[in-house]
Amino acid sequence: MAFETKEEILQKILEMTKPNCPHCNTEMSLWEVPEINFSDGLGWGTPYMFVCFNDDCPSYNQGWDNLKENMEHYASYRCINSPGSSNFEYMPVFSPSGGKGQIIGNDEIAMRESFKEAMKQGFSLLTDFFVAGDWDEIMKVLLSPEYPPRVRLKAAQMVGDIGGSDAVEHLVNYKFPSKPLQEAVDSAVQKLHERHYTRECPYCAEIIKKRASVCRHCQRELTSC
Ligand SMILES: [Zn+2]
Ligand SMILES: [Zn+2]
Repeated sequence: MAFETKEEILQKILEMTKPNCPHCNTEMSLWEVPEINFSDGLGWGTPYMFVCFNDDCPSYNQGWDNLKENMEHYASYRCINSPGSSNFEYMPVFSPSGGKGQIIGNDEIAMRESFKEAMKQGFSLLTDFFVAGDWDEIMKVLLSPEYPPRVRLKAAQMVGDIGGSDAVEHLVNYKFPSKPLQEAVDSAVQKLHERHYTRECPYCAEIIKKRASVCRHCQRELTSC
């Protein structure tokens, strides 16, 4: 079986019809399994579940009484279904709002779609700029926080590949918000130095020719490297 990313799994689940709870016949909610499992040692085997969050669900309502009497716990359980299977099981909840933060509702799905759209647009824009050799425009994408991180990461690689000799200056004067992006920019800077035979002056940090023996900015003598 091919390895699927969480995103691919979600895409598949979004195409499924949501099941109805066998206890109350209400449509179940799509629910993201939290990172930390509350049932010790029991893996969920799936990053998403269908859960009945109907507060009038008879099995959920009985759960409060059952667990109090039998386990001396103040808790109940909600009916769950593993996507694609016909098994309905239970998960414990410790308050009526327990787990509700992980519901993936229509708003989240819409946001996810618009994020995907922004990513698609960003990549296609970058491809056009790259083909045109327009690294100035690619630089604008890289420096603009409105673009999704993955688009900016791609822009960093492209600037490293086709950026002009003054591209480095733009990059070193800018603080990038994430470690992966900063790393991509750092390696782009390295690539640019190599392509344009430049380096940073160790004294004044200005960009100088790799073979320069005197810095043309601070006039210090340099050892060649
Ligand atoms: Zn129910
Ligand atoms: Zn210098």
